Amino acid sequence: MKFLQQIVGHKQSIKILNKAISSGRVAHAYLFAGPEGVGKETTAMAFARALLCSCPAGGDACGTCRECRQLSSGNHPDFYLVEPAGASIKIEQVREIQRRVPYCSYQGGRKIYLIRQAEAMTAEAANCILKTLEEPPRDTVFILLSARPQVLLPTILSRCQALYFKEMSVPDLIRGLVSLNEMPEEEARLYASLSGGSMGRALSYASGALMADRDAANALAGALWHGGPLESVEMAEKASESKPKAIFTLDTLACWYRDLLVWREAGEAGSLFNTDRVDTIKTEAARYDTGRILAIIEEIMSTKRKIEVNANTRLALETLFLRLSGGFSQQC
Ligand SMILES: [Zn+2]
Repeated sequence: MKFLQQIVGHKQSIKILNKAISSGRVAHAYLFAGPEGVGKETTAMAFARALLCSCPAGGDACGTCRECRQLSSGNHPDFYLVEPAGASIKIEQVREIQRRVPYCSYQGGRKIYLIRQAEAMTAEAANCILKTLEEPPRDTVFILLSARPQVLLPTILSRCQALYFKEMSVPDLIRGLVSLNEMPEEEARLYASLSGGSMGRALSYASGALMADRDAANALAGALWHGGPLESVEMAEKASESKPKAIFTLDTLACWYRDLLVWREAGEAGSLFNTDRVDTIKTEAARYDTGRILAIIEEIMSTKRKIEVNANTRLALETLFLRLSGGFSQQC
């Protein structure tokens, strides 16, 4: 488990949290908002440890007291993790929180409730937790995590101190990867560039778990160029096996076309994301003019937005792939 001072990036948020710990002026509810995989939960856990620590120093946990050790090993009795049971956080889960809230903490310090994917609360659950947030019990701190804070009730938002976590910069990601995994900087640069600002995704690339998926998604650009309607529909079927897979495919494809554009405009391999695929990028970049690549990236991002707000994934991908497939892209 990390200390707040070890979190890479998010300087402003870390400063606010350090100050809350050292001054003792801790809000009763925080919202950590931002895309998946950028470090919200890692920061929340480091903050929770600092809040529970019996002898914090410099606005951070000591790492050695009983409370620190208990939280690190997942055994602190005053730390509660709430997460979706299936697709949503249900009213029964919030009632369980309400049942515990009035009691004193087991170890005389604070009680922490960390709520993952807070946007997944059902309307009933959200209205129910609102009552607890309106009359906050002493020494209880809620930390809500959300990648889609816009769907939370405004009344919940107004009762939380919100900290926004943006995508991490490539230099921050490289620094984090090098210090966490002790990998060569060049290798870290490849994973950082492909990650879209997400440390979680960069680590998945580093573990080798995503490289084959990336290669498959990148290969779609060439396959669509050569393929016809039938192949496009088949490719859409495969890529729409699940919503996360579809989103990953679209993000990866957008990065690929971005590389084609960068190569066309700058001819500079050092600025590419897929630095290990320069030869293929050169070949494919010669097929399109700049305007067409820009239009393709826009179509990919627009399809992603539609899928995120629950358009039919397969239909959205079929429409996109048909538009990008051989005949169409060569006409336009
Ligand atoms: Zn401690």
